[in-house]
Amino acid sequence: MTLDPKDPEAFRRAAHAMLDAALDKLENAREGRVWTPVPESEKTRLDMPLPQGGMSGEDIRSELAALLSYGVGNTHPRFFGWVHGAGAPSGLLADMAMGAMNVNAGGRNHVAPIIEQQVIKWAAEMTGMPKTSSGLVVSGTSMATIIALKTARDQALKNGGDIKTLRGYTSEQTHSCVERAFDLLGFGKESLRKVPCNDAFEIDAEALRRAVHADRVAGLAPFVIIGTAGAVNMGAIDDLEALADLAQTDRLWFHIDGAFGAAANIGTLACERLTGLSRADSLAFDFHKWLQVNYDAGIVLIRDKAAHRAAFAQRPDYLRGSEQGLAGGDFWAVDYGPELSRSFRALKVWAHLRQHGISKLAEIIDRNIEQAKYLESLVKRSDKLEMLAPVPLNICCFRYISDGGDLDDINQEIVIQLQEEGVAVTSSTRINGQFAIRVNITNHRTLMSDLEVFIEAVERIGGSHNR
Ligand SMILES: *Cc1c(COP(=O)(O)O)cnc(C)c1O
Repeated sequence: MTLDPKDPEAFRRAAHAMLDAALDKLENAREGRVWTPVPESEKTRLDMPLPQGGMSGEDIRSELAALLSYGVGNTHPRFFGWVHGAGAPSGLLADMAMGAMNVNAGGRNHVAPIIEQQVIKWAAEMTGMPKTSSGLVVSGTSMATIIALKTARDQALKNGGDIKTLRGYTSEQTHSCVERAFDLLGFGKESLRKVPCNDAFEIDAEALRRAVHADRVAGLAPFVIIGTAGAVNMGAIDDLEALADLAQTDRLWFHIDGAFGAAANIGTLACERLTGLSRADSLAFDFHKWLQVNYDAGIVLIRDKAAHRAAFAQRPDYLRGSEQGLAGGDFWAVDYGPELSRSFRALKVWAHLRQHGISKLAEIIDRNIEQAKYLESLVKRSDKLEMLAPVPLNICCFRYISDGGDLDDINQEIVIQLQEEGVAVTSSTRINGQFAIRVNITNHRTLMSDLEVFIEAVERIGGSHNR
């Protein structure tokens, strides 16, 4: 008995039908609701005992197809929530190849390390990091941040020192993954100093300098500055050049969280503010956000290869490499991150970049930036809406205004009702204490007309709560 299909022809038919269902969904990505909650009846059906017997390929195909409608909704052109990429149909091809090969990309001598190193080189080129940079393709920026900060930590402690005295600096707008990494790596969250921002929500470089010096005077050990290229609330880009200068003079590690924003370096509209990416000691960003690779794929780039390797390479006997044979190869991913077994994630990034090319991806990014500006103009044109933050990149934060009722409540209601009607999905945040409807555009399917449909819906729903 094996797990291979007893009737290969029947399985082939089921597989082709599954592919058709997947392609149908994506060909119709523009149609229908953005988000469809899982119905209660479906939740009940899905609560089942551990399967003892199996089912045919055709039966599991139909079970899988039944789930296709109940995703997050980010394949739809009016999905504007959080920072989600929309993905691309082409990703299905790479996923099929990856599934068929079923490689463990943790190490050894096969094609995965070759493709992964190519992706790392391309990522360096896209962001202006040196081509000799080290790196690793990972699940996303959260994991990339952990790897980068572990490397920074080991460098800071390589000649001794007390981990308890290490301090890191970032802005108040930083993503929560930085604090999580601080917690996981044993610094403690309180070792991360959140430096105030200027009116544009960028880190106040002068306040940062003072904070570093005050800690030094107090006998603590500043070791890392974390800049943000595209802050999650409203897209602010820190003055990366100023941070790089400061890190250089103060001999601190310079890490950049560029989860979505770093990708804008390939476009023309924001790249002038991203030149500092090239000066990072480490940089984390995602392929699954603005670059539209299917979930999940992100990357960490680290300028100093020896430092990166030193932070992770401790292979025991049973993982020893060899000069020749399958245990050969000089790039073993396990030497550059905490995971051993891992998928051939780099393949879908490689295929995506090859199929679409950088110029098309760059155009999409620039168009999204223009769309955020267009949305700002629609908000400013309406006497029912007001902007709550500047629009430095692809995120627009605004709210509905009315004479009666609590504005926070009304706007919260608008966000929920938009989602429940299925007309659009936004997320929300607070800007200077005020509840904001937050629209993030990292979507290759969004058209200007989608923004008009969206604004009309906001005004309609706001009006209905305003009686
Ligand atoms: C999304 C995001 C992260 C986290 O990245 P994941 O890929 O979700 O792990 C970190 N920082 C910023 C600015 C983000 O937008």
